[in-house]
Amino acid sequence: MPKNSNLMIGIDLGGTKMMAAALDAQGKVAATRKQPTPANLGAEGVIREIAAVVAKLVKRVKPRKVDGICVGAPGAVDPKRGIVYHAPNLGWKQYPLAKLLGKQLDLPVTVDNDVNVGAVGEFALGAGKGARNLVAIFVGTGIGSGIIINGKLFHGSFGAAGEVGHVRMVSSGPLCGCGGRGCAEALASRSAMEKIIRRSIQMGRESIIPRLLEERNKDRITSSIIEAALAANDPLMLEVYERTQHRLGVLVADVINLLDPDTVVIGGGIAERMGEHFIAPIRETAFRHVMRAEGAEQIRIVPTALKELAGSIGAAVLAWQRFAHLNVGR
Ligand SMILES: [Zn+2]
Repeated sequence: MPKNSNLMIGIDLGGTKMMAAALDAQGKVAATRKQPTPANLGAEGVIREIAAVVAKLVKRVKPRKVDGICVGAPGAVDPKRGIVYHAPNLGWKQYPLAKLLGKQLDLPVTVDNDVNVGAVGEFALGAGKGARNLVAIFVGTGIGSGIIINGKLFHGSFGAAGEVGHVRMVSSGPLCGCGGRGCAEALASRSAMEKIIRRSIQMGRESIIPRLLEERNKDRITSSIIEAALAANDPLMLEVYERTQHRLGVLVADVINLLDPDTVVIGGGIAERMGEHFIAPIRETAFRHVMRAEGAEQIRIVPTALKELAGSIGAAVLAWQRFAHLNVGR
């Protein structure tokens, strides 16, 4: 049985970078690390890199002992069997991550989905502290959500719960990565914002954004570019930002109408950077669309508190749950 003075390590594995956090049973983060994901080296290369990150963290927290690892992978996973079914960003299919990484590290390894671990992090130690039913919606390149019901991560019947990015908002809207049309992800993700902005500029709209991209040597409209364009009161940016907030507000209301959570956490790059500035109008729109005569205001709709560490901390929380039956932060 692991000792409470020991540590669990959580890894948030993204297509371009990985975050790692070592967490004790009291919910204190002992060490963190951020590193690029060498997706081009294939699954073996990525596993080697995860093992290297773990080794570095283990060294840094010595003499404390690490008892287990949980990896949040970007795709469909089977937590019971420790398999990543399909992670398009990494090019993985039917990959027995828990078994292979466990062998390499000689430690127990468990896996879950990257968005699920983010939700667990916010629930246990972040903006969702004290919640019982929580939905965490992450808005970035795509839109995903993790659902916690009665304090437990909800996977659904086949592990696919929380695909809120593919809720259809407009029946004949823009094409989505999933092949459908008018999905929330195709209308209100950061990449959807980027597409709309680029198309408008091509069609002759004035905007400060091309200049910002050049000045900062960026090829993507990142959340820092969005922040700078908003600070400069760029009319195109403002318009797209407000439209996105409205759509996310409607989406949050849909989620609330379906699941009746007490807390909705909104994360991802823009929420991390803009915080309440991004969330306030989303909350207002959501409250207007919630199907409830009174008391909608008691639902907490809040920005992420753990920001880019939500996933790695949440993964470590899951490792404590699964290997030591301990509910960190609860
Ligand atoms: Zn879709």
